[in-house]
Amino acid sequence: MRTKNLIAIGILFSVVLISSCKKTPKAAEIEKKTGYQGQGKSPVVSTEDKPIQKQWRGVWAFNDSITFFSNRFEGARLNGVAYDGDDHYTIWVTAENTPINVSPWYAFQVWSEEPRDITVQLNYQDSRSRYYPKISTDGKNFKPLDSTNFKSINPGEGEFGIKAAPESAELTIRVNENPTWITAQELYTSSVVQEWVDSLSQKPFIENYPIGLSKEERTMHLMEINENEEAKKALMIISRQHPPEVTGFLAMKSFIETISGDTELAKTFRQEHTVFAVPLMNPDGADNGHWRHNMGGIDLNRDWQNFNQPETRNVRDFLVEKDKDYEFVFGADFHSTWDDIYYPIDTTVTGEKGKIIFDWIENISERLPQKQTNISASDEIDPTMVSSKYFYVHHGMPAIVFELGDNTSRPFLKEKGKVAAEEIMKLLMEE
Ligand SMILES: [Zn+2]
Repeated sequence: MRTKNLIAIGILFSVVLISSCKKTPKAAEIEKKTGYQGQGKSPVVSTEDKPIQKQWRGVWAFNDSITFFSNRFEGARLNGVAYDGDDHYTIWVTAENTPINVSPWYAFQVWSEEPRDITVQLNYQDSRSRYYPKISTDGKNFKPLDSTNFKSINPGEGEFGIKAAPESAELTIRVNENPTWITAQELYTSSVVQEWVDSLSQKPFIENYPIGLSKEERTMHLMEINENEEAKKALMIISRQHPPEVTGFLAMKSFIETISGDTELAKTFRQEHTVFAVPLMNPDGADNGHWRHNMGGIDLNRDWQNFNQPETRNVRDFLVEKDKDYEFVFGADFHSTWDDIYYPIDTTVTGEKGKIIFDWIENISERLPQKQTNISASDEIDPTMVSSKYFYVHHGMPAIVFELGDNTSRPFLKEKGKVAAEEIMKLLMEE
């Protein structure tokens, strides 16, 4: 009995000792910083195929068939609708499979043969309401729903993360005989992204070509910016491993457009540098309205170690091939989360070579002082699992996960992508 108690006291004592030693003054200082601090390290998970639930696609008819909801379009997600009376509807949105990161994507159309105001409540499978609704009457141009038409139900607590989001949301929508789109973010499906890629490829020094098929056999396109055959320093840019992360895509788009631009800086840069970009890593997920995974039911940004999924394999094979002729000098993977944040690899791992990433972040921050953005550096690169670590470990690229906030203003995203491109061009030319 006594020995047991002594052991218990011993355990208790060491727990106290460990916890009191845990925080160095530096860590405490970092914690005091404001703003989104980022997610912790990612646990190792299997990336072998898991079953997914494909959504039923169709049209729901109500009120003696004068009011309709539809998910029959690319990027849609709507899993159920119930009519509650008095022009009030409850909408049900589910994930492709679970467990899954809380990123409840929704996108649907609604119309009515008689113009009317309807109220729609959004409910999600095991998730709160993360994305503020966007509205469109043509499926192309979206704007945030007017705040007077948005009601939080059971608002969350805190500043960031899913707990801070309301449990559900109630929207008032003026509908008529023409469809109104309601979506979690602006729609950038595979065909919309390809339209942009094709339009940029009108420039004589830009081309795009297939690098393989996705799980559901959509073509994955790579965009190559190359103005000089001798430009053997290369950049690798990717985005949308996670389908709802449209704000990351928008910053990437501006980044690519800036490097493709007519400024003296861009022209000079292109004399020595080639840019490879895969703007839509997960076309199946985007078109099927997935919350996060591909059609293999897997988070692609955990598959850069074992390469069980075709989307990651296509990019890996491309890089292995190009590495024979090019020296990769920079890699970036654009994402979205609760707020802007940078996930670089710590210089304790990358040494002198990785410093360019931190200089770059500093230069961006100096030019955009209006938005303080935290840095969450990782000193673990084994297993590689995420793209940026694979880029660094296997192709020697200083690399980063560049995250933009879900609600970061669209003009600011564009500006940030432009500034980020200008600053990396300057730094790479100094080297
Ligand atoms: Zn992401």
